[in-house]
Amino acid sequence: EKGASTRGQISIHTENIFPIIKKFLYSDHEIFLRELVSNAVDASQKLQKLASYGEYNEEVGELKITVAFDKDAKTITISDRGIGMTADEVKKYINQIAFSGATEFVEKYKDKATAGETNIIGHFGLGFYSAFMVAREVEIITKSYQPGAQAVRWVCDGSTEYELSEAERADRGTDIILHIAEDSEEFLDKYRLKGILEKYGKFLPIPVEFDGEVINTTTPIWTKSPADLTDDDYKSFYRDLYPMSPEPLFWIHLNVDYPFNLTGVLYFPKLDGDKFQMKREKIQLYSRQVFITDEVKDVVPDFLMMLHGVIDSPDIPLNVSRSFLQADSNVKKINGYITRKVADKLNELFVNDRAGFEAKYDDIAIFVKYGSLSDDKFYDKAKDFALVKNTDGKYFTLNEYREHVQANQTDKSEQVVFLYTTDRNQQDAYVESAKRRGYDVLLMDTIIDAHYINALEYKLEKTTFKRVDADTLDKLIDSGVASESVLSEEERTRLKELFEQTLNDKSLTVSVESLPTDELPVSITMPEFMRRMKDMSALSGE
Ligand code: ADP
Ligand code: MG
Repeated sequence: EKGASTRGQISIHTENIFPIIKKFLYSDHEIFLRELVSNAVDASQKLQKLASYGEYNEEVGELKITVAFDKDAKTITISDRGIGMTADEVKKYINQIAFSGATEFVEKYKDKATAGETNIIGHFGLGFYSAFMVAREVEIITKSYQPGAQAVRWVCDGSTEYELSEAERADRGTDIILHIAEDSEEFLDKYRLKGILEKYGKFLPIPVEFDGEVINTTTPIWTKSPADLTDDDYKSFYRDLYPMSPEPLFWIHLNVDYPFNLTGVLYFPKLDGDKFQMKREKIQLYSRQVFITDEVKDVVPDFLMMLHGVIDSPDIPLNVSRSFLQADSNVKKINGYITRKVADKLNELFVNDRAGFEAKYDDIAIFVKYGSLSDDKFYDKAKDFALVKNTDGKYFTLNEYREHVQANQTDKSEQVVFLYTTDRNQQDAYVESAKRRGYDVLLMDTIIDAHYINALEYKLEKTTFKRVDADTLDKLIDSGVASESVLSEEERTRLKELFEQTLNDKSLTVSVESLPTDELPVSITMPEFMRRMKDMSALSGE
């Protein structure tokens, strides 16, 4: 006989689960303020919605959230004039952990909401309990917007017991009063609180007042339509985000609602100094205008991590682990979307204003190169607008450059050779020598160029890159100049031997006489592949 199977209900012993929620919900304790202010924003926006649906006919008035603290009483209070709660609602929404009133509201009114209207922040029904990360006791005084509602007071010390009683409150709305625990008194500080509010709440959609000032901009530019914005609007928003940075080169306004929701503005920064150095400023990730993080590693393609700006998406899972984020299909789609938009924008600039594009290209180049190296789809788009710059400061597309050098190259090989220098000063004699022979030389002197050259060689048909001091220069162009050496045969041999002994490096070739007499009598060259192997191992620190 087979064992009888039973079905049952898993029960949660709240006494045990409560401390776990309190301690491990968020690693960062300052998050409590983000959660409670978000709830106040939700309560205010719900009231606005009810008014617009005709379900609330009293005056809405000014909907301002205030955050205040009292150092002596050791309290922090968050007050709103939102929908408030009845006693029954407190029992339902507050006493039931992980029951989200926000989700319930969105469900209930989903037929009335206009398409794409998704601005209620709450979701998991856990945020409120983050208050207990910093408070030994939490008090709620709330009065529902409903006519004739009785105000109520709820108090809980973080155990599973609470007290609910009638209270006095003149106006509709909610006060959350946190009685700060001894180990969290750092939060009873004006600058600390202001800092946290500015970090998370700078762009919340309802005004938030602290210390007599409103700390937020309620309609940041990414929530508006590009058609309603001027260049100055974008620049002033940039200054707002990164006060110390030079003016950005250009920007991209992101706006998708299918198959995921995403808005934002990405800026191409002017990178000064060492172009490869990551600057402190980063892209900021928001969800419904609430700041979440500036660790956007998995949301933004690696090669675009140096961009600046804001991304806002309610579809990015926020309270989950990093490995989950990497595997999330929305995140992957977002990655692809951003890459495509950036490539399209660059192409648009190139096509519409080539001179302007060239003027900015030294700053853009790093993105194009890094992008081409790390993403084939990006390379495919970028190959039409990626530029190379020669030692005279002239820019060419890859196709243009190929045609340009092919016309000059007189050797019979199928390969078109792109000569380049990695150091204009050090390799000056070689560069000048090549130029005298009518050969063009590219400037490839940034740290990423060695890799970029390899990638281009692999992708471009019948194209080889040779550094200007490689041993093939002679073969490329028949200069037509007879090289009549001023040295005798014997002198040449002795000179060659002397150089070889001194250099003592088999990878170098010494030749005397191969160059016209008005140039260097001796040239030292190394085969391209050997030099590249050396460069690569130097780069990877071997
Ligand atoms: P979530 O915001 O994800 O729904 P929370 O734990 O943050 O979950 O809050 C639980 C519920 O408590 C909210 O959905 C809301 O119904 C209610 N609530 C919390 N704060 C307020 C407030 N200031 N005004 C009105 N209702 C609130
Ligand atoms: Mg919430």
